[in-house]
Amino acid sequence: MASWDNFCVNPVSKSDLYRKLPSVDEFVRGAQLQAAIARDGRAAVTAAARAVLERARLEIGRGGLDQDAIDLLVAGLAHAVECELRTSIGYSLRPVINATGVILHTNLGRAPLARSAIENIAHTAAGYSNLEFDLDSGERGKRDAHVDRLFRQLFQEGPGSISTIVVNNNAAAVWLALNTLAAGGEVIVSRGELVEIGGSFRIPDVMQQSNAILREVGTTNRTRIGDYEQAISDKTRVLLRVHRSNFEITGFTEQPALEELVALARARDIPLVEDLGSGAILDLRSVGIAGETGVGESLRAGVDVVTYSGDKLLGGPQAGMLTGRDDLIRRMRRNSLFRALRVDKLTYSALEATLLAYVKGEHDAIPALSMMRLSKDAIEARATRVSGHLQASGIKVEAIDGESLIGGGAAPSATLPTHLLTVTVNGLSAEQLQVRLRALELPIIARVQEGRVVLDLRTVPAELDDALVRGLKEAAGTVRD
Ligand SMILES: *Cc1c(COP(=O)(O)O)cnc(C)c1O
Repeated sequence: MASWDNFCVNPVSKSDLYRKLPSVDEFVRGAQLQAAIARDGRAAVTAAARAVLERARLEIGRGGLDQDAIDLLVAGLAHAVECELRTSIGYSLRPVINATGVILHTNLGRAPLARSAIENIAHTAAGYSNLEFDLDSGERGKRDAHVDRLFRQLFQEGPGSISTIVVNNNAAAVWLALNTLAAGGEVIVSRGELVEIGGSFRIPDVMQQSNAILREVGTTNRTRIGDYEQAISDKTRVLLRVHRSNFEITGFTEQPALEELVALARARDIPLVEDLGSGAILDLRSVGIAGETGVGESLRAGVDVVTYSGDKLLGGPQAGMLTGRDDLIRRMRRNSLFRALRVDKLTYSALEATLLAYVKGEHDAIPALSMMRLSKDAIEARATRVSGHLQASGIKVEAIDGESLIGGGAAPSATLPTHLLTVTVNGLSAEQLQVRLRALELPIIARVQEGRVVLDLRTVPAELDDALVRGLKEAAGTVRD
């Protein structure tokens, strides 16, 4: 009935309504948009005006607008253009507050960088550098020289030289290792290690793309050294071990010790490559996490080439490292596709600064590590303060014990004890509050647990505690400006 009424009081045809809208040209020439043009440029404002008018036309096309509504729509056009500009020429990639307690959150950009890394990026980015220039000889140099020396310092032990090259990410590192060492031949992998990481990285697919032939051995839950041994033939080019980064196999299981694989690889003179994924440099036992082999440990055990990420447990920029026997690494550098996978000066700047922090033993300078090393008591002290501020503005807060996750495919079941705050706001469901928190100028990303929004301060830098409080108050509607 309502629509019939509308029809009776609103005998205006749609084409009359469309005529009320200015053309893009008229609109952009009009007085209302001149300030925006002076500020953001004619091209951006024209694009925004076009988008706004297009939406207005769609709105009219949908029907249900009467004269008054259309007048309101027209009166609000300039404001709509301002809103459109805020998103169209604002940054799309923006900082957020990670209150999930997942330290290496792949969707939130994994490892935050050390201050020294950020400063070094700014320093290098602003001008020219000796990226590929040897200052001693005045001749062309190699870009990986800058970090190779630090990796050597961190890992070099005993005879035989170890070197490192850097590519875009660990997926590229695995591809480069397989393509260089095994194209046209076979790579032996346990069926329990044919992993998928984050949807697009699947060991069998990477294998195929590298032109190596996958030779699966053992079963999902049990693979013995004898299985590898029997599969070796004159076509075998690599024995591959893959870290089970995001899952665990428990129960009736068996996997050969790394030492057994090393012994077999040596006896048959076949390179052993290990995709470690996370690649810890710091021994994680120091933060109470057992069962993760670090890069150094694998190399000491005799693995020929280790691949790992720069932005997981290493706590640096996105990158993929190949560390291992000098002769094998040299072959990879000679691969004609190495150039397509190499990283830029900004990545080297960040990586070099991060590695220097390791060399100097300044582990707390690396945010991912300092978050791991944060005690539950330290988190609780901050949470109590945050909780006080929130409760003072009428937000209901409860403290509970919980667990933070390392994330990033490191130690899939390793957790760190933490102190959580659950937050409830009258009249808002947890999901509604979550939506509002994401819509903030500085978005807050939080988990929902049993119908309540849960905050873990382990992954929130202490200097953002106040911003977190402000954001929560704004989302809860207890502050208005
Ligand atoms: C994370 C991971 C990868 C992919 O590394 P990216 O740096 O994300 O490309 C590959 N293998 C393993 C075992 C991993 O954990």
